[in-house]
This record gives sequence, structure tokens and C-alpha cells, in this order.
Amino acid sequence: MRILVFSDIHANLTALEAVIADAGDFQATWCLGDLVGYGPDPNECIQRVSLLPKLTCLIGNHDAAALGRISPDTFNSEARQALLWTQKNLTEASLSFLKRLPETMIIEKIDSDGAAPFTLVHGSPRQPIWEYLLDSYTATRNFDYFDTPYCVVGHTHIPVIYHHTENERLARLLIPKSHTPLRLTPRLILNPGSVGQPRDRDPRAAYAIYDTAFQTWEYRRVDYDISEVQQRMEAVTLPARHIRRIAAGW
Ligand code: ZN
Repeated sequence: MRILVFSDIHANLTALEAVIADAGDFQATWCLGDLVGYGPDPNECIQRVSLLPKLTCLIGNHDAAALGRISPDTFNSEARQALLWTQKNLTEASLSFLKRLPETMIIEKIDSDGAAPFTLVHGSPRQPIWEYLLDSYTATRNFDYFDTPYCVVGHTHIPVIYHHTENERLARLLIPKSHTPLRLTPRLILNPGSVGQPRDRDPRAAYAIYDTAFQTWEYRRVDYDISEVQQRMEAVTLPARHIRRIAAGW
């Protein structure tokens, strides 16, 4: 089975469509949260994700904020402006989809290939909504907070893999090579990067394919029409800085 794994769409439907088209055949979908916030298409993205095959979807900090579970004051002024715009525009159907999303999910059994169990969260196993796994030290501490061989996270918008073995003090930080399937060996924390707002200076949409038969993780990038999204952001007067950053990847 091929599983499409992605995170941090941030209401960017054009990037999401590019990912789905590029992914080829897939039989299940893991979405690690932040479907909304920053971009112009929150309802369209939720609708599109909700129809993907065998969906497991987690809640992100922007999704929780859109539901009013996190105070807008915890965001900087531009993120707050985008949040208020999102709240004003979310439909009842979108709100009820977001309300049902869990903070943590353990996938025990995927299919007859007998793939190993996975823990899925948006931020980190220790703090599922908030914590950023940006360095080896923080990642190492988090290996104590899940029991499965593998954990998949989003939130940082940076594709990365942390590998931790019993006899090593610190987890190793690996930047995966795109379009190169990597065989999984315990224990790992895997981040597929961001669909709608990458922050590693590569503005292309990021995602991954997990192949349960071969036990491989293939991280990928795909081009999409960024200027078309920028124009739509301008049309609904989303913050200028957010419009600029999707073209530069920060
Ligand atoms: Zn995010």
C-alpha cells in the first residue's frame, strides 16, 4: 500500500492539488494538521482533504486557533490577521470537520504487509500541538514520549528525519534527498515538510510517500503556480508578508 503523507497545507489549494496529482496512486492518506491559516482556500482544502482515501487527519495549532481553542494573542500580528480572516470565512461544514480532529493518533496496523505501528502528531509527541522539532536535542527528548518504532510530525514546515538508537546519546538529524526512497529502520521521527508554505528556501510543495510493502519513505517536491495563489491572497487582502514568503520559501 502507498500512503500519501503531508502536513501544513495552510489553505493553499493550488499546492495541495499539485501534490495529489504528483503522488500517483495511493490507497491511504495521513494529514498532519494545519489545513487552514495563511492561505486563501480554507474551506476548499478541508473539502478536498476530507475526500481523500482512508484519511487519518490530525489537528494543528492553526486549526485549533480557528476553532477558538487557542487565543489569537498567541500569534504575531500578521498571523492573527490571517487567523481572523480564516475564522470569518470558515463554513459550518469546515468547522465541524476541524472539531473532530484528534491531537494524537496511533496507527497500529496498516494492511496485510504488516507495517510497523506509527504515532502521528502535528508538533511533537510531547506537546502534540505546540512544540517544534527543529534540533537533535529536542527531538531526542521526544523519543521518550512515544512507543512505536516511528513517529510522523509536521509543524516546522521543514522536511527532516531524526534517527535515534539506544546506544547513541543524541538523535541524528538527516535532511532527506528528494525522490529517493529511504528504507525505514527504527527508531525515527519523520517530517514530510509543508504543502502550502515551505520554510527551507525551496518554495515547491513538499510531501512524502510511505510504501508499506517496501517499508520506504520517499520525500518529494513539486512545483505549483505560486503567483496564482499570491493573486488570490491579494484579492482577499491577506497580509503582504505571507504573500511574499510563499514565493521564497521562508
Ligand atoms: Zn503550520
